[in-house]
Amino acid sequence: MQKGNIRVQTENIFPIIKKFLYSEHDIFLRELVSNAVDATQKLKTLSSIGEAKGELGELRIDVKLNAGDKTLTISDKGVGMTAEEVDKYLNQVAFSGAEEFLEKYKGQNESTIIGHFGLGFYSSFMVSDKVEVITKSYQQDKPSVKWECDGSPAFTLEETDKPDRGTDIVLHINEESKEFLEAGKIRQILEKFCRFLPIPIFFEDKQINNTTPAWTKKPSDLTTEDYQNFYKELYPFNETPLFWIHLNVDYPFNLTGILYFPKIKQSYEIQKDKIQLYSNQVFVTEEVKDIVPEFLMLLQGVIDSPDIPLNVSRSYLQGDPNVRKINNHITKKVADKLEEIFNKDRKAFEEKWEHVGLFVKYGMMTDDKFFERANSFHLFEDVEDGKFYTLEEYRTTTEALQKNKEGKLVILYTTNPVQQDAYIQQAKAKGYKVVKMETLVDAAFISQVETKWENVHFTRVDADIADNLVDKQEAGETVLNKEEADALKDLFNVQRPEINMSVEVKGLGAEAPPVVATRPEFMRRMKDMALAGGPMAGFYTNMPDEVTLTVNGNHPVFQTILQEADEIKKEKAIHNLADLALLSQGLLKGNNLTDFINRSVELMGGTQKSKIILES
Ligand code: ADP
Ligand code: MG
Repeated sequence: MQKGNIRVQTENIFPIIKKFLYSEHDIFLRELVSNAVDATQKLKTLSSIGEAKGELGELRIDVKLNAGDKTLTISDKGVGMTAEEVDKYLNQVAFSGAEEFLEKYKGQNESTIIGHFGLGFYSSFMVSDKVEVITKSYQQDKPSVKWECDGSPAFTLEETDKPDRGTDIVLHINEESKEFLEAGKIRQILEKFCRFLPIPIFFEDKQINNTTPAWTKKPSDLTTEDYQNFYKELYPFNETPLFWIHLNVDYPFNLTGILYFPKIKQSYEIQKDKIQLYSNQVFVTEEVKDIVPEFLMLLQGVIDSPDIPLNVSRSYLQGDPNVRKINNHITKKVADKLEEIFNKDRKAFEEKWEHVGLFVKYGMMTDDKFFERANSFHLFEDVEDGKFYTLEEYRTTTEALQKNKEGKLVILYTTNPVQQDAYIQQAKAKGYKVVKMETLVDAAFISQVETKWENVHFTRVDADIADNLVDKQEAGETVLNKEEADALKDLFNVQRPEINMSVEVKGLGAEAPPVVATRPEFMRRMKDMALAGGPMAGFYTNMPDEVTLTVNGNHPVFQTILQEADEIKKEKAIHNLADLALLSQGLLKGNNLTDFINRSVELMGGTQKSKIILES
């Protein structure tokens, strides 16, 4: 038997390792199974070049628990190690890795290094009092050996008789790590980290892994069903995804993977099923921030890259050139795919817009490169007929009517087709096209792209009377004379505390409503932002609502009202018309709404008896 000390400067490395790795103990199993996979892959390579002779037998990895002995054993049928190799790889190389690690992180705060690092074999000492390595090399004339170490630098190495090729790593689980003697815990770790490893892994007679996950295959060998089945394997409870992108790059970095576009209806949908990051089929993390562009964080699936540094801290990852390149590549691939569907099958693209639109808009706001690409496939949906336009298409169809004095295209939009219906109808009567901008992300999108799309201005359909939506116009001729118009203006000039109201009398078309209430686009946007907790929230929420009442002097109803001899009835009729207009802006609430209803009942010939009380 050979006895010796591991060649290491630090007297006792293990307490330090334990301390550093405290929060990520599970990864010891990932490291040991990965080593077993590596050893098996090496054997396959050696066999394929004729270095390893004879039948290889069933190449599998077995994880076994022995609760009585308090051991956990990882066995492979890979290359194995000779005595010299054990000495070299375990006593020297592996430990130098551990030393390097400590050197690098000396003095650093524990929390900054939590994450991923390649401590490999020695991570087994985080959970073990003693580790035994029993191994037999594929080189037939070499004796099998047993290495043993109890977590001090002292080790023993002796010949043993192991009948078949491969390596058993026996961990004597320590008292604080008892949880790793529970089958449920071990299965959970294996399913998390080893689910797609390329060599069959067995635990309690069941194979844990799918050795050939879809992303490792050639796209040309996969059917739609294969992609959908793989999605189901990853996220069993989810609806079928909309479409997917198979990533496959080998220069200047290695990257494979499949990204799925899930169905998302609400922009606030919280995501639980994230993209998973693998390194050579070993699960690493679901923290793909920095690697995947932020606007694609709602995608699902897998990316696999051995080129992403796993053994460094977060801040380093951000600056890593490969990570940045991968991020750019993913953005480009997503744009390619969207463009491809848009060009090849516009109808399918439009059908998916409800879900895809969110990614596209978010991407356009956060990523300039994507913005450039997405201009050609970002769509507006017409509120009337559900037709879709790109910006260019909207421009060509509306340019004649919707260009303002400054030469800007005015995009008319609605945030609520039901509530804003009256305004939409008025705009439509003028030949304007109104598009839907209903989601949470739309408000932010509008103010963002206005700064990027020169010559485009967004106006909400209820921001002004239809005549003024595109350009302020001179008041048209009204059929009323000056005195009548002034009288009408006075009658409407009833101030309300919470509304800052101005009244104007204009000659609109006889088909236009008698009174239109509008809120200027700018003030309304500020208020909306304030409600959403934006900057200057306090200032704008406390501002009264700005409303303009535009009285249509050409509407026949005013001929009757101005002639009305009963002053009270006249005032009530006017009040009602004003309230109707405010109602359409959602500004008639509480007592004012109750008054309006009661007044309406009276005007219809009802009496005080039928008075309705909305609020007690
Ligand atoms: P790495 O895997 O990054 O090389 P490790 O610390 O995990 O570092 O392992 C150190 C070395 O020990 C490996 O490179 C390999 O040569 C050897 N080794 C570890 N486990 C096995 C095994 N199951 N079979 C054969 N060799 C192994
Ligand atoms: Mg390793």
